[in-house]
Amino acid sequence: MIKETDIIVIGAGPVGLFTVFEAGLLGLNCVLIDNLDKPGGQCAELYPEKPIYDIPGVAFQTAQEHVDALLMQIKPFDYDLYLNQRVETIEETNQADDMFWKVTTNENNSFISKNIFIAAGAGSFEARRPPNIEDPDKFLNHGVNYAVRSKEKYKDKDIFIFGGGDSALDWSVELAKESKSLSLVHRRDAFRGAPHTEELMRDLVKDKKINLLTPYVIEDIHGEEKVSEVSLKNFDTKEIITHKADELIFLFGLNKKLGPILDWELELNNKKINVNTENFETSREGIFAVGDINDYPGKLDLILSGFHETTLAVQKAYKRIYPGERVPFGYTTSNSKLQEKLGVLKK
Ligand SMILES: Cc1cc2nc3c(=O)[nH]c(=O)nc-3n(C[C@H](O)[C@H](O)[C@H](O)COP(=O)(O)OP(=O)(O)OC[C@H]3O[C@@H](n4cnc5c(N)ncnc54)[C@H](O)[C@@H]3O)c2cc1C
Repeated sequence: MIKETDIIVIGAGPVGLFTVFEAGLLGLNCVLIDNLDKPGGQCAELYPEKPIYDIPGVAFQTAQEHVDALLMQIKPFDYDLYLNQRVETIEETNQADDMFWKVTTNENNSFISKNIFIAAGAGSFEARRPPNIEDPDKFLNHGVNYAVRSKEKYKDKDIFIFGGGDSALDWSVELAKESKSLSLVHRRDAFRGAPHTEELMRDLVKDKKINLLTPYVIEDIHGEEKVSEVSLKNFDTKEIITHKADELIFLFGLNKKLGPILDWELELNNKKINVNTENFETSREGIFAVGDINDYPGKLDLILSGFHETTLAVQKAYKRIYPGERVPFGYTTSNSKLQEKLGVLKK
């Protein structure tokens, strides 16, 4: 697939989401791409229930409420969101004697635009792979998973969930309802998740809806084209047991990786992208870096700093699309067309 847009935004964290709003005010459309399975970046992934007190005009919000409010705020505007894919390459391409950027993801989707906004935070979040297993991705989506995308997939299946945190507990409790059998595997009989969910999990163990396997670790995955069995090693006795299995879900948390960003030939400072503070453009014209990923004298890794940065960057992006035209600056309330669009937010 190849799609053309006014601004390609790499990263759907708070700053990427707010970019859609600022672009929308100027009548520009965006494509947002994120590696995660949901928008919200660090707020949604790392601390959804933590309070945030330093968003101007909002005395208190949890991080997830903040993301939900941003999604509501961009509802009137034109954007497409592509999740579960990492931007791998950025290259120049020429069309009608004009230079454009082409961005391609690891799902082989390509996007073309005059402007790229890198709002990639600390890099893409990548699921931690199971240790000791050589190339677990050989079975990726054929019995090996690092996230639950649809509950339907696990209906009437023999499932093994690995991990000891919130995700492992949450999904064990949830999928125990759908599965043929559900085993929760952890290397010790202590969990790091919410006590209430652990209680629910232990009740389901008593009711024989969950088979709790501790202290066990993954030893091997068996199968031809698809997973058929899994071997587990007892952490204390080293005894190995093998079970029939359809789906293995590894929920060992996430690593942050700068990954492909290092290959985009941008001027970096300590794994952050250098920008100017007039319009947050990088060392390559038409590529902007906003939010936690950028660096300049006095930079603060705060959400509100990213909001300011992207507001200015969008002005420059507009000028690149419509050279010579005045940027239609005005208060949102002094433009009747915009008022009509934003009016839906009052309801
Ligand atoms: C525990 C904690 C508490 C915090 N509390 C506050 C607070 O109270 N107030 C405050 O202002 N700030 C707080 N922060 C900081 C705040 O979360 C960050 O400043 C903010 O998330 C930066 O937003 P961002 O959109 O730049 O990046 P992020 O939120 O990091 O989002 C970047 C997104 O880009 C994606 N991405 C990266 N590379 C790629 C790629 N190649 N392809 C596709 N997607 C990619 C990532 O997966 C991620 O989803 C806190 C941070 C932490 C860790």
